[in-house]
Amino acid sequence: MESIPRALSRANDSYESIEEIFSEQKTERKTGWTTAQRVAEMIFHRKEHQNSNRPWYMLLAREEKGNVVPALFTYHLQETLAKPGCVLCRLVRESEEQWLWNLLYEYTGDPQIHARFADSLGLCGEHAELMRMIVAKRQLVTPSGVARLYDTVSREELSRLSQFPQKNSTKRDDCPLCRYRDQVTDRKASFLAHALADEAWQGEFAASDGLCQGHLDVVVKYADKQTKRILRDDYAKRLENLSHLLQELQRKQRYDVSEQLTPEEAISWREALWRFGGMHFDRLLVND
Ligand SMILES: [Zn+2]
Ligand SMILES: [Zn+2]
Repeated sequence: MESIPRALSRANDSYESIEEIFSEQKTERKTGWTTAQRVAEMIFHRKEHQNSNRPWYMLLAREEKGNVVPALFTYHLQETLAKPGCVLCRLVRESEEQWLWNLLYEYTGDPQIHARFADSLGLCGEHAELMRMIVAKRQLVTPSGVARLYDTVSREELSRLSQFPQKNSTKRDDCPLCRYRDQVTDRKASFLAHALADEAWQGEFAASDGLCQGHLDVVVKYADKQTKRILRDDYAKRLENLSHLLQELQRKQRYDVSEQLTPEEAISWREALWRFGGMHFDRLLVND
């Protein structure tokens, strides 16, 4: 059985993906969500709704509407803050992986998805590589789902070529997953900004690796005045520390200095890379 945090994350992201993919179409899908559903019911005491004809994720969404920070988010946030690097880079990447997995598991036959893929000519390079990793590593998804989607893309390009020379340039819509990533980034940044108005979360955040520069800017956008100040002070402290470590790394690498590097100094250059450029993950964060 999958762990509770993972089930919750899946519940959260499944809901977000479905909302995003089917924003204009009220479609109910339940397949494969049994564990997440059970956990959600347990946590949110949904037993009384068992006879309701609404899908469970709609109940979840309705209940959460009044809250600025959904419980599903904070439940997973604690676990993520304990991991290395920018917390938002990690949360957003998990959502991207989940979006792709949901797409390949359930929606490769969906006409709306095919229309989107035709307009964008599939995914951008970065997300195409992520799709490749998911097909290679995750269960229940196969290359035939990718083939199905990209068959549509190929036909679209062929039909354009047949109109040459009247139509000789390809206009592509943005990659659908890039668009979803932007929305998820804003949503999670807003949740985080509101969570950080709470002292308990400020403590957890201070003990974590914090945010990369790009994501800090997004979270600040959603923060109230006091939280903005907390975030700025926190970031300044981290940069002072980083700058000191980088100087020590340079000094101790000189041939005439025989002092040993501390572990923090030894990895400081890598922190500088992600702090200013965002995290790069070379393996999947969500596994079976
Ligand atoms: Zn980041
Ligand atoms: Zn993309």
